[in-house]
This record gives sequence, C-alpha cells and structure tokens, in this order.
Amino acid sequence: MTEHYLDNAATTKPCTASVNAVMRCFSEHYGNPSSLHRAGLAAQQEADHARAVISAALGCETREIIFTSCATESTNMALRSTAAAYGRKRKKIITSAVEHASVKKVLASLSENEGFEIAEIKPCETGEYRAEDFLSACDDNTVMVSMMMVNNETGHVLPVMRTFSMIKKKYPHIITHCDAVQAFMKYPVKVRSLCADFISISGHKIHAPKGIGALYVRKSTKIRPLILGGKQENGLRAGTESVPLIAGFGAAVEELASTIDKRFEYVKKLNTELRKKLSELEGVRILSPESASPYILSIIVPGIRSEIMLHYLEARGIYVSSGSACSKGAGSGVPEIFGASQKEADSVLRISFSAENTSEDIDALSEGIAAGQREIIHK
Ligand code: PLP
Repeated sequence: MTEHYLDNAATTKPCTASVNAVMRCFSEHYGNPSSLHRAGLAAQQEADHARAVISAALGCETREIIFTSCATESTNMALRSTAAAYGRKRKKIITSAVEHASVKKVLASLSENEGFEIAEIKPCETGEYRAEDFLSACDDNTVMVSMMMVNNETGHVLPVMRTFSMIKKKYPHIITHCDAVQAFMKYPVKVRSLCADFISISGHKIHAPKGIGALYVRKSTKIRPLILGGKQENGLRAGTESVPLIAGFGAAVEELASTIDKRFEYVKKLNTELRKKLSELEGVRILSPESASPYILSIIVPGIRSEIMLHYLEARGIYVSSGSACSKGAGSGVPEIFGASQKEADSVLRISFSAENTSEDIDALSEGIAAGQREIIHK
C-alpha cells in the first residue's frame, strides 16, 4: 500500500544528509568531545560545525546556542530560568492561550508552586492575535512574555516580532521567549528582528532526528541550568553531548536553510490544492485561516470523531493527526479558542505537510475523507 505521511507537525522523516551525519558520528567520529585526544577533537568539530550552522540560521553567535534533548527541555529551561533569575519581585507572566503543553504546563507549575500570576491572552473577535493585547497586559510587575510563533494545531501565525518589539520598547526589562518549533526553517526566524531573549527549536520537526533541540539565549540574559554536572555547554547543560544527534540537527539545517522560500511556496500550493478539494466535500469546515502557516491545515469533519476518521484514513495508508500529537487525543482546547464549537472540536483533523508531499497525497487524503464521510456516517 502506498503511504501518505501528512503528520509533519508531529514529526518529520530525517533527511539523507541528516542520517549520513548521524551515521558518520556513530561509526567514525564517536569520541567524547571533552576528550583531549584526536578522537575527541573530531567529535568536537562535528558539534562545532552544527552549532555554527544553527547560529547562522538564527543570526546569532555560536555561544548563544545551548543544545538540549528536545524543545520541551528548551522551553522548560527558558521559563524556569527566567522565573528563578528575574522573578523574585516581578511575578506576572504573559502568554498566549494557545501555547504548546511544554510552555503551558511549566507556567501552570510556576503559578501553583511559586506564586506567579499567569495572564493568558486570547485572540480577538476575528480569531487573530493582536500585538496590542499582549502589550496592554504588561505592567511593571511583568517578568516575562512567552509566545509561540506558529500554533502547532491550526497553523495560526502569532505576531511575535511586532509584540516583542513593542514590549521591549516600553518595558526593556521584560524577558521574551519564543517557541519557534513550528516556524523554524519554514519562516525566517532571526534573533535580531524577533527581539527575543530566548528561542526554542526542535530537530525532529525539521527532518533531523528526535532527541535533539536547542535554546537560543541572548548573551546578556541570565540563565540557570536544569541539569547539573559537567562543564558541557558552558556549564549550562551538563551531560556528554549527543554528537550524532547534534550533527544530524546541523546537517538538516544546512540542507534546508537555502530553500525556505522555495519550500514555503511549494507547500502553499499543496495547501491551496487541498483547501479547494475539501471545499467540494459537504460539511467539511476549514479551521485554519488563509493567513495560517501553509504547513498546517486544521479541518472539521462534522459528525465523525477525530480518532475514528484518523484510523479510517490510516487503514488507507494516510497518516494525519487528531490535533496535537503530544496530547495523545485529549482535547487541548485550542480549536475552541480559535472558533470551533465543543462538538466540532471532537471532529478536528490536523493535516501537516512537508516539501516531500505531493499532489498524490492530497488526492488520496481528500478521497479518503470523502469515502469516510460516506462509509462512517452511514454505517
Ligand atoms: N512547541 C511546539 C509548538 C510543538 O509543536 C512541539 C512539539 O510538538 C514542542 C514545542 C515540543 O517539541 P519537542 O517534541 O522537541 O519536545
């Protein structure tokens, strides 16, 4: 059976360059980068190269990158660190109401256990986020603003650049964190224009392996390690570096960096094609606005529970998701915040693309959904 992988917001297939880099580090450059001999040096050079590539992609200095095990670790580090280093007197944290669990849960814990007040900003009546709403929530008691760039369930693009620059102008001491996991290598994510003190990114969303992420930390920003031990990553993230995964991350970024615009245009074409096909199916509602990231399309197939349709499609070799992969089917509340009714939220499907998808995938999916509507509803 031909497979149609349309769940790239959950994870992507590692690209050949990334796999080759991983294998090279497993079989040849397997030394410990902290070792003082040649084998150690070869491993260190692999990690250095990856760090240089990722820094160049973000437009930052190499010493501003900390490799982590995943973006979840990066967000935990940014948020907990900021609370510890800057949050003794200022106790308010501003965030969007649609953040990924890796931000939401940390903020909930800071609220429950450490007395922080969390202000969650909702979108305005049109369903879009406005920078002004974040700015007007800020005050002298605010320690941090944490905001994702692209929502992982619907693809909504949040105005991070505008929000952070307005906030930094009025409140330069407020620390800014951007979860750029679904934006990195799809949109230009540049530290300077973003006005971010922290940026979290992940390898496995961009055709690198799972188990590797990074945190950008602006050089004058205070940071505390989550993991204590050796002196790796400037003493900020102890533990022997996973050089194969770091090299795999760097290789994927190196491969993708020059094709951001080209891939964006291609995926946008696929997205438009799918929107058109879905508009011909009775009752299907598209939740993602036209302004959303073309990489993610959230739809509602009324009357059919997400999991039922997901497994129906799976039997035809088509892989999509029922919202956020991390919530494992549990409702996140994000579709409702973006305008779905409670009932509709049970019937959400998330389709997410990579530049490896083709029109055949679109045809298979729209035919699959149409068949599901006939067979499941009338069973
Ligand atoms: N933030 C967003 C927006 C995500 O989509 C994800 C993963 O789905 C994460 C953070 C967490 O990334 P990781 O799987 O690398 O921990």
